[in-house]
Amino acid sequence: MSLKITREKIKNSLVDKIEEISGQNVFDCYQCGICSSGCPVTDYMDYSPNQVMRLLQLGSVDEILNSKTIWICSTCLQCSTRCPKGIEVAQVMEALRTINLRQREGTLKPEDIKSKELKDLPPIALVSAFRKLTG
Ligand code: SF4
Ligand code: SF4
Repeated sequence: MSLKITREKIKNSLVDKIEEISGQNVFDCYQCGICSSGCPVTDYMDYSPNQVMRLLQLGSVDEILNSKTIWICSTCLQCSTRCPKGIEVAQVMEALRTINLRQREGTLKPEDIKSKELKDLPPIALVSAFRKLTG
């Protein structure tokens, strides 16, 4: 992947919004990769957690907002626990999902879930879905 880096792109208002929602400064990340090495689902992501942080530093928000990564993240908090800079990476992932949902006005309503799914799905799957899909 090649990226064109410009001053305008780096001073991206969406990055400011992600920092506001998550309460994290993405520029604190120094790319040690410890978050990614502890993440249990990186094999299924298109961008690993440290790559997400780097792309945010470069202002490439659209790549991440359109990625599988933010939905694959299971909010296990491993990355947040391990980061030597104290960055709550899981909060950044949450902020990215929130912005994605706001942009496409996507929400999950209880009435959208079929009764068979309600019966069959483990409660944690429903909790996770509502946490992720209710902007
Ligand atoms: S919170 Fe998400 S990104 Fe962080 S380690 Fe867990 S699954 Fe990976
Ligand atoms: S562990 Fe923290 S400092 Fe290291 S790459 Fe991940 S977010 Fe950046």
